[in-house]
Amino acid sequence: MVSARPQSQINSLPFKSAIPGVVFPALPGPKALPIMAVLYQLERNQWLDAAAHRSRSFGQLHSLLSIAAKKVHYYHILLGRLGFDPNVPLSEEFWAQIPIMTRGTLQDEKQRLLSTDIPQEYQPFTKVNSSGSTGMPVEVYQPSYKRTFFSATNLLEDVIHGADFSKKSASIRIFKGMGLTSEGKDLPHWGAPASDLFHTGPSALLDARQDPDVQADWVIRQNPAYLQIFPSNLVALLPLLRERGAKLSNLHYIRSVGEQLPSYIREEVRDLLGVKIVDAYSSQEVGFMAIQCPEHDHYHLLQDACFTEILNDENKPCAPGEIGRVVVTDLLNPAFPLIRYDIGDYAEAGAPCDCGRGWPVVNRIMGRVRNLVTFPDGSRQWPMTGGAHFAKIAPVRQHQMIQETPMALRILLVSERPLTDDEKAEIVARAHQHLGSKFDTSIEEVGEISRGENGKFEDFRSNVTPEMIAAARRQYA
Ligand SMILES: [Zn+2]
Repeated sequence: MVSARPQSQINSLPFKSAIPGVVFPALPGPKALPIMAVLYQLERNQWLDAAAHRSRSFGQLHSLLSIAAKKVHYYHILLGRLGFDPNVPLSEEFWAQIPIMTRGTLQDEKQRLLSTDIPQEYQPFTKVNSSGSTGMPVEVYQPSYKRTFFSATNLLEDVIHGADFSKKSASIRIFKGMGLTSEGKDLPHWGAPASDLFHTGPSALLDARQDPDVQADWVIRQNPAYLQIFPSNLVALLPLLRERGAKLSNLHYIRSVGEQLPSYIREEVRDLLGVKIVDAYSSQEVGFMAIQCPEHDHYHLLQDACFTEILNDENKPCAPGEIGRVVVTDLLNPAFPLIRYDIGDYAEAGAPCDCGRGWPVVNRIMGRVRNLVTFPDGSRQWPMTGGAHFAKIAPVRQHQMIQETPMALRILLVSERPLTDDEKAEIVARAHQHLGSKFDTSIEEVGEISRGENGKFEDFRSNVTPEMIAAARRQYA
């Protein structure tokens, strides 16, 4: 069952003890313990072979379906119709006939997807809003322990890529409500969850809404070992680092988060900075779905917390090299089950990996891509669109923002009925509030919003040219 490399990378990490005077072996504190328990299992499970992963996943899927059939109205009806019997082990044949759940179904059926019996251990059971990767806002409910799995997987990514937790980590992300200036913020540790479990080096935070020029100077000053950043932000940053002749001599790798990574960026980063990009695939709805193989640029599907299938038009598993829809089942949420949920992305299936890990491989993922927003004065930043909240204002099923000039923004909406003038005004106000500036904004109601080239979905697209940016800067200089 266990293949060539059972040795653990975790054992050598600097675990932090919560007990004064006890250093080794460390006894971690109550926040760290469940995360550590999951991290150890995930790290161990990577060396299981593909058949063992599948058999474990099917065991957990059976448990999930059994609870869903009993406690969740939507699945009580659906699984009853399919003749689900909880006393019979789940077969591949039965699994394959469960219909795919679309984002539209999730939008329509969310009340009937909620369990009638939510155990105490799941509390607080919280609502999560996601505009997802296709601009279609959905609401899901998640048990508190999902956070534990998210933290453990987040750490696993650093662990399997050989991170040295004593070095400096830097993050350029959205840090709401922290009042960060263009200087960012320095911390003596990496922050949770890493510093709950490990002795770590310092970290530095900068808000992604800072101008890319400010970001470039900041990164050079920080010279971190690890940098976390949105891919669209990294695309804007690279030419500025090149201009400045930046070497970032301490840099070990860049972790990309939040969007699809354009593959050409990997080469650019290797060429300019001599390091790799470490990418992962996650969503608000289910958490981590895949992490990058430490030995290749492709990804391993983490079948431990989320069972992910890449399916063709006939809902059959894609062969290596074939591109299909990403269909996920959250293995950890029987109280709001997402079973064979079409998350809205496409991915290319891969052949088994030679690294020895039995997790299935995907070669590439076609998810959400973004452009930076340009303000009327020509400054630019990573966009917060507010799109996840549009459905609270009106029955909006999908949205896309297109910026045509530094002044002009179009919001494309698919809705269940024509919107009132008040609703349109409120959506524009919400978008301006999240973007942090006012634009000449028009709303266009459309029948559907399609994907761009290569299956990418651009939830914020910019048609602003470098000439327009230069002209705006001159005008405001
Ligand atoms: Zn691999």
